[in-house]
Amino acid sequence: MSVERRALSPGIEPISAEEARRLIRCGSGPELEALLARARAVREEVHGTEVSLCGITNAKSGRCSEDCGFCAQSAHFEDTGAPEYAMMSAREIADHARIAEAAGAREFSIVTSGTRLAREGELTELEKAVRIIREETTVEPCASLGLMRRPELERLKEAGLEHFHHNLETAKSHFANVCTTHTYEEQLETIRAAKDLGYKLCTGGILGMGETPEQRVELAETIRDLDVDCVPLNFLNPRPGTPMASAKAITPGECLAAVAVFRLMMPAAHIFVMGGREVNLGGCQDRIFDAGANGTMVGNYLTSAGTQPAEVVDMIHRHGLVVKPTRDAARWAFHGEAPRGEAGWNRRALEGEAPRQPKKPLPVMR
Ligand code: SF4
Repeated sequence: MSVERRALSPGIEPISAEEARRLIRCGSGPELEALLARARAVREEVHGTEVSLCGITNAKSGRCSEDCGFCAQSAHFEDTGAPEYAMMSAREIADHARIAEAAGAREFSIVTSGTRLAREGELTELEKAVRIIREETTVEPCASLGLMRRPELERLKEAGLEHFHHNLETAKSHFANVCTTHTYEEQLETIRAAKDLGYKLCTGGILGMGETPEQRVELAETIRDLDVDCVPLNFLNPRPGTPMASAKAITPGECLAAVAVFRLMMPAAHIFVMGGREVNLGGCQDRIFDAGANGTMVGNYLTSAGTQPAEVVDMIHRHGLVVKPTRDAARWAFHGEAPRGEAGWNRRALEGEAPRQPKKPLPVMR
């Protein structure tokens, strides 16, 4: 993901966790508007008008031995409808990166299901994919591969991987309600190993999984203390067949207040609002930028449809913002407008799901 570290202007100080616990309760009315105005001002001051787009591909889907309660790819849950397939070839992964690049992505993440990489052949294929992506595109490759050991991370770094993604999912105090088959500490070990090797880190979570607002702040504190570069925030999109299928959604105001608090606690970090924004924010999706986000996702998610690229780019332009170019902008395959129509990558992840129709955006609320 987009990772240049930003120096903070004088006067911009991260807020304390204590203040965050008070602000995150401002989920509606004038208090919410004041919070968003503050978060937006910090985003503008530190990150300007540029919005980074990230695309992903679900390079290996389903049959996972973990029991993360939000995830359609867990083998613990039946009839989730998630597709099952083995690791894609390096060529297919790199082709997805190329299409995502043309749709405006400057970062591209290769995501695999499972606790860890299962065999040597998977790692070799990923090394190959990273090398091809580096040769043929200008996108910055990222990977999200579950728990990782240092030698695997070293090999991928050697192949040219710069970014590593691992979500903590939720606060430590809530984690046992979400997953029982691996520990929070194991996740932290993976993140620390990647950091130790000099990876740029992308670590966030999913909000709306039954946690309290205070636990959202607890997650933010942990991420702040890890000193990561990018913070992807997702909102639960309840998947049929999972234990969270009928979880009660949090309100759009709660979503926006949480994004704003993450922004104010971590002014220099790149805050991305990713999966579940369509379902949880509906016509207020545009307001993620008011809440301080300076990045979002383009194209489909792992097992659900996302917003099509042209809609995302339009949303950015409507806010007077611009899509942030890659480091090699002269060779970037995106030329200002994303293709209309269905995104041409990561379709396999959606087998069985009807494509999402682009929603007519509601007027931006100020
Ligand atoms: S989130 Fe990852 S580890 Fe957890 S069940 Fe899904 S694929 Fe497995």
